[in-house]
Amino acid sequence: MSKILGIIGHPIGHTKSPVLQQAALDHLGVDLTFDAWDVAPEDLAAKVETFRSPDFVAGCVTLPHKQAIIPMLDGLAETAQAVGAVNWVIPEEGKLIGHNTDAPGFLRALKESAGFDPKGRSAVVFGAGGAARAIVYALKTGGAASVAIANRTVEKAQALAADMTDGRFRPTALGLDATSLADVVPYSDLLVNASTLGMEGGPGPGLSPVAAELIPAEATCYDAVYAPPETPFLLEAERAGATPAGGISMLIYQGVVGFELATGREAPVKEMFAALGVRE
Ligand code: NAP
Repeated sequence: MSKILGIIGHPIGHTKSPVLQQAALDHLGVDLTFDAWDVAPEDLAAKVETFRSPDFVAGCVTLPHKQAIIPMLDGLAETAQAVGAVNWVIPEEGKLIGHNTDAPGFLRALKESAGFDPKGRSAVVFGAGGAARAIVYALKTGGAASVAIANRTVEKAQALAADMTDGRFRPTALGLDATSLADVVPYSDLLVNASTLGMEGGPGPGLSPVAAELIPAEATCYDAVYAPPETPFLLEAERAGATPAGGISMLIYQGVVGFELATGREAPVKEMFAALGVRE
């Protein structure tokens, strides 16, 4: 039987992971095929059972399964536990362990592609959904001094802030209205859009979470949204004279971290960027 390695999602047609992962496997001469499996929610448990085969290498997990898969696994790595979502399943000593590579992937993208180290710096994260959870956790582990979570539904920002709070790290929560944003955005080193605003096909395709007038020229502005590559938020950042960085690097680095977990090999980062037609 052939080895089991691929991504589960529903729908699955849009995913860039097979191209990204296959490029890395081929470059290193690893004789494996990275598949894409369209798995409806009602078929998820049966699919996960197939991962218990000795031929299972690793499974990448995308929408809508990142949380639903958790009770089907035998354990969670620390980051997946903290973020509350799984995007890679790796077999370890006969057990299926869920990992989250969105958080370390964001941190590597921020440092290596955007050239920004969050240690000791202040940040505002727009949004409080799945991407925001990973990003706020990444900023926490990256040593950020302060993080404000700005979300349309303030209660969700408050819940995320409470989940991430510990003795050292105490994120604050606020609304997405201009008055609330004016209290924090102009004084922040890093702004991250983790909402769906600006996303092609999303609820606000032409919208930025914040206007240029509030963005400081010294700020780095990272948009987790990567389609389109030039988002409304990044255009506002440019208008403010700030440093814009698009979300494709987070997508690639979550794959880099996942590839390294799955294969135990150092990922060929340059080739993975090239596979998606992006410069590192
Ligand atoms: P999600 O869990 O559905 O969260 C959506 C967020 O957007 C919530 O905070 C929601 O606010 C906010 N929102 C939605 N419509 C809004 C509107 N009309 N006005 C203001 N806020 C609105 O989504 P997600 O999984 O976090 O994904 C967010 C974005 O990140 C997506 O574009 C996704 O493609 C991107 N992403 C990128 C990567 C990457 O590797 N680059 C990884 C993961 C996600 P409420 O709470 O008020 O509803």
